[in-house]
Amino acid sequence: MHFSSRLLQWYAQNGRTLPWRQTRDPYIVWVTEILLQQTRVDQGMEYFYRFTEAFPNVASLAAAPLDEVLRLWQGLGYYSRARNLHQAARDIMEQRNGKLPESYKEWLKVKGVGPYTAAAISSIAFNEPVAALDGNVYRVLARLFAIDERIDTGRGKKVFDEVASELIDQNDPGGFNQAMMDFGATVCKPAAPLCRECIFNRECLAFLNQQVEKLPVKKPRKASRIRHFNYFYIFFENQDGRRLFFVNQRKDDDIWKNLYELPLIETSGEIKPEAVGNLPEWKEWFAGSPDFVMQGSPFFFRHLLTHQSIHARFFQIKIKPENAVNFTLFFQMVDHKRFEKMPKSKLTLSFLYKI
Ligand code: SF4
Repeated sequence: MHFSSRLLQWYAQNGRTLPWRQTRDPYIVWVTEILLQQTRVDQGMEYFYRFTEAFPNVASLAAAPLDEVLRLWQGLGYYSRARNLHQAARDIMEQRNGKLPESYKEWLKVKGVGPYTAAAISSIAFNEPVAALDGNVYRVLARLFAIDERIDTGRGKKVFDEVASELIDQNDPGGFNQAMMDFGATVCKPAAPLCRECIFNRECLAFLNQQVEKLPVKKPRKASRIRHFNYFYIFFENQDGRRLFFVNQRKDDDIWKNLYELPLIETSGEIKPEAVGNLPEWKEWFAGSPDFVMQGSPFFFRHLLTHQSIHARFFQIKIKPENAVNFTLFFQMVDHKRFEKMPKSKLTLSFLYKI
C-alpha cells in the first residue's frame, strides 16, 4: 500500500479529535493555525474556544480593537502573531471586501502567513495539494528517509519540500497534512519516539540504521541574551481607599509591543534598591514628587523567551496622593479592575498574582 494510504489509515484510527477539525471554514483554519504555532495543542484549546467565540468571522476580528485581540491572546506569547492576524483581517475587509483567499498563492500574500500556514489552510479548506511542513513533519521525513540536511537552510527546505510533495495524497491533501502532523506529535516524537509500534518501522531508514536520535539535524542553538528589567509599581490610595497605580503601553519594535506594563527602566545589569534613585529615568519621573516609600525588597522573576532571558525586578513604591498628578505626565493611571482588562505579558501577570 502507498505511503499516504497507510498514513491516512493510521490517522483515521489514531488521529486526535480536535474541535477545529470539525470544520473546513478557512477563517477557522487560519485562526487555529496561527494560534497553535509555538503552542501545545492542550494549551491552545482554551484560546481557540475563547478567540473564535469572540471573533467568529473575519469581519468581527477586523472590527475589534487591537487591545481586545491582545487581551484574548494574553499568556500565549509571540504577540506579533496576534497583531498580524488582526491587521490581516482588516486588510481582507478593506482590500477584498471580506472575501478570504482561496489558494496557496493568495494566502501567502496575507500578513503573518508563511508557506506552512498557507499550505495548511489551502489544503484543509480548499483541497489544494500543497504539503505543509512544520517541525513535526520535518522530523518524520528526516527520519523516514534519513535526510541529513538542516531544515533551516534553503537547500534543506527544498529537499524536504520535494519529498513531501511526492508523498502528499492528491485526493485528501488536508487529511494527509494533518495526519503527518499528528504522526509526528504522537508517534515520531522528538524524544522517545514509539518506533517499536510504528507502522513504518520496516522501512524507516533512521530506525533501521540506528540514527533516530541523530535526526533531524538541528540548527545550532542561539545564545540567550540576558536583559535586566526594573519595573516600578508606583501606587497610592485615594480618598475612598481605592488603590491606583501607573502603567505604560509598550510602543517600540521589541518584545510585547502594544501590551501594557508597569513603568520600566531597563539596565545593563542588576540594580540594588538603594541605587535606583540614580537612574536618569527615575530622576525625571520623581523630579516633582520626592516623597515616596519603597516597600520591602523587590520581587524577582526570571522569564524565559525564545532567545532572551528577562531578569525582572518589581519595586513597590508608595507615593502621596497629592503627587500622583506628576506621574500622569508620563504614564496612564489605573486601578486593578481597569488593568485587569488591559492586555499584558505573563511576566506582569506573575507580579500581579504575587501581590
Ligand atoms: S520508526 Fe521511529 S523514527 Fe521511524 S518513523 Fe517510526 S517512529 Fe519515526
